[in-house]
Amino acid sequence: MVTIPQIKLHDGNSIPQLGFGVFRVDPQETKRVVLDALEVGYRHLDTAAIYGNEREVGQAIAESGIPREEIFLTTKLWNTRHADAPVAIAESMEKLGVDYLDLYLIHWPAQVQNLYVEAWKDLEGFKEAGLVRSIGVSNFHPEHLKRLKDAGCQTPVIDQVEIHPAFQQKFITDYCRDEGIAIEAWSPLGQGGYPLFETAPVVEAAKSHEKTPAQVVLRWHLEKGYIIFPKSTHKERMKENIDIFDFTLSEQEMAAIDAMEIGEAGRQGASIEERGV
Ligand code: NAD
Repeated sequence: MVTIPQIKLHDGNSIPQLGFGVFRVDPQETKRVVLDALEVGYRHLDTAAIYGNEREVGQAIAESGIPREEIFLTTKLWNTRHADAPVAIAESMEKLGVDYLDLYLIHWPAQVQNLYVEAWKDLEGFKEAGLVRSIGVSNFHPEHLKRLKDAGCQTPVIDQVEIHPAFQQKFITDYCRDEGIAIEAWSPLGQGGYPLFETAPVVEAAKSHEKTPAQVVLRWHLEKGYIIFPKSTHKERMKENIDIFDFTLSEQEMAAIDAMEIGEAGRQGASIEERGV
C-alpha cells in the first residue's frame, strides 16, 4: 500500500496530501467507484452536498470495513444553505452515516447573498461542538478571507480553489501562504479538458521519468505543496493517479510547467460571479 504524505494544518490536524474527489460521479456508480478507490489505497474522500452522492459515499465507507478514523472525509455547505448551516451539516452527516467530519468547507462565498461571515461563525460552532475536526472554505478570494479576518473570525485551515498548470490563481495562493492557509487544488487535471497532457513541458517530463502526463501534472501539484483529489471512475486511472510518490520533478521541469499559466483562458470551472447566487 502506498504511503501518502500528510500536510499539517494550522489547527494541529493533518490531512493526506492526495485524496479522491467525487464531483460528477453519478450516484448510481458512486458506491462502486469509492469502494474501488479505497481498495486502491485512497484514504481521503472529497464530496459535497451539491454532488448528490453523499449517501453512496457513506455506504461505500461502511461497506469497506475500513475504520472510520482511517479515512479523512470532507463535505461542503452549499450556497443556498448559508442561513441554515446547522440543518445542512446535519443532513450531510446523516447521509454520510458518520458522527463527525474531518473537514467541512463553505463551498463558495455566494457573495450576492452575503451571508458567508454568518455561515463561517456557524462552522466555528460545529468545530467547538466536535461535529467537525477542521473547518475551511472553498473558492474564496483574498477579499473574502480578509472579511472573515476583519470580523474577528478564526482563520480557515484550507482554501479549496481551482488550480492546474494553465490556471494557477497566484493571487490566492500567495495570500494563503502568508496567512498559513493550506491550498487544496480542485480539478488538478484541469478536468481532463484543456490539452494539458499534450503540452511540451508535460510530455517531456513524462518521457524522462517514464510516467504518464497525468502523473506529471499531479506531481507538479505535490511539489507546490498543494492537496489534491483527482477524480476518475476507472480503477486503472485511480492506480495511475496514486502512483506519483516515486519520482520528483527537477527545478527546470517545475519552471517549465509553471510557465504554462494562461490565466482566465485556462479556467475550467465557474467563476465567482457565475456562482454568485
Ligand atoms: P480532475 O481535474 O480531477 O479531472 C478529472 C478528469 O480527468 C476525469 O473525469 C478524466 O476525464 C480525467 N482523468 C483522470 N485521471 C486521468 C488519467 N490518469 N489520465 C488521463 N485522464 C485522466 O477534475 P474534477 O473532478 O473536477 O476535480 C477533482 C475534485 O475536485 C472533484 O472530484 C471534487 O472533489 C473537487 N472539486 C471541487 C470544486 C469546488 O468548487 N470546490 C469544483 C470542482 C471539483
